Amino acid sequence: MTAVRKNYDIPALRRLDVAHHLPAQQDYKLIEDMGGSRIVTHAEGCYIHDGDGNRILDGMAGLWCVNIGYGRDELADVAAEQMRELPFYNTFFKTATPPTIELAAKIAGLTGGKLQHVFFNASGSEANDTVFRMVRHYWKVKGEPARKVFISRWNAYHGSTVAGVSLGGMKAMHAQGDLPFPGIEHVRQPYWFGEGRDMEPREFGKLCAQAIEDRILEVGPENVAAFIGEPVQGAGGVIIPPEGYWQEVERICRKYGILLVADEVICGFGRTGEWFGHQTLGFTPDLVPMAKGLSSGYLPISAVAVSSDVVEVLKTGGDFVHGFTYSGHPVCAAVALRNIEIIERENLVGKVRDDVGPYLNAALKSLDDHPLVGETRSIGLLGAVEIVADKKTAARFGGKEGNAGPVVRDFCIENGLMVRGIRDTIVMSPPLIISRQQIDDLVDIIRRSLDSAMPILK
Ligand code: PLP
Repeated sequence: MTAVRKNYDIPALRRLDVAHHLPAQQDYKLIEDMGGSRIVTHAEGCYIHDGDGNRILDGMAGLWCVNIGYGRDELADVAAEQMRELPFYNTFFKTATPPTIELAAKIAGLTGGKLQHVFFNASGSEANDTVFRMVRHYWKVKGEPARKVFISRWNAYHGSTVAGVSLGGMKAMHAQGDLPFPGIEHVRQPYWFGEGRDMEPREFGKLCAQAIEDRILEVGPENVAAFIGEPVQGAGGVIIPPEGYWQEVERICRKYGILLVADEVICGFGRTGEWFGHQTLGFTPDLVPMAKGLSSGYLPISAVAVSSDVVEVLKTGGDFVHGFTYSGHPVCAAVALRNIEIIERENLVGKVRDDVGPYLNAALKSLDDHPLVGETRSIGLLGAVEIVADKKTAARFGGKEGNAGPVVRDFCIENGLMVRGIRDTIVMSPPLIISRQQIDDLVDIIRRSLDSAMPILK
């Protein structure tokens, strides 16, 4: 069964949008002044369509999530079948459903090694709430209740719930709601272009890892529960750590017996050219929150893969009194299973690793000669372009970290490409099905948009 295209009254929808809808992470006054949001009506493959008749290459795969691309009837069919068979049942009553169990086993196979157990939630933020409560509970059961502190990085993104924002390192988010709550320590991020250009990348990475050890010693290792980090920071600006950084982080965590959490909400499911970012970057976490690419965004589902060592301890602690109505939702689980099957069937992970990932990297490098480009970088299909006022010194427009990213992004959208502008960076994370031709289009639009932004940026 394929989609029937609907006819929408776009001006009416935009009026209702302003009158009633509060969109995520937005300035409501700005949306009102715009006369309502851009209304995305349908999509196929790597393209979204809006109510004004624009076809836009989706360089963000929705919100880092539509890994298999849009318009997969197969997923709609699987959802409908599962809804008819069993639309919902919970996992609270010593009960589980077939797709939920099968998905847990599938994820355990993909993460491999010691990560043999899976806890389900509905979003990436909830997955990190689960991590927070599970880790603190684990240490209590283990007889080390003082181990409560989480160490994270400034400019990390771990979600929008109270625990997600607190674990994250976004100062603007902390400022709303009096967060972070106590027990979370932030250390510097391994952002070489922004903070380490006067050093060799490897040396800078080592320094950033050392900041973790310094903080552990300040807080007292006996009080530290876990370190959490995105293998590659996504929302912070696609910050790819220097080589050797994660190996140092892992060594430090092991030295002090601290749990290592890899937040794979963006990096998971092929994005970096392996199933998970920690596999690409070569380290072994104890807990792995994941979401987005797990269902390619077709339905909301997230998971936390947990090591057998942690679960063996939890088994001695009675009930873990944590979980959500939609933990292990059977329809979401069935869709996630089929999504993974599609990634496997179409060898999308290998395609990112061997074909379109390196191709994007080379295509972005072709922008290095542009007067506004300070650096291009990518890993798999996660890419970034740093915008500078002065190529030699990497000085930003206005003399400080600014807003050049959103300026260029607006031109990109006008030119038919959705990317994200983060401070002075534009970032991208296209569907894994993107073709070489579409990557050429993407880079061509970025170049033209940089040209258009040049006279405006000061
Ligand atoms: N963790 C990371 C690394 C993310 O990038 C995100 C969302 O972008 C989250 C957690 C939160 O996920 P969600 O928006 O599904 O709650």
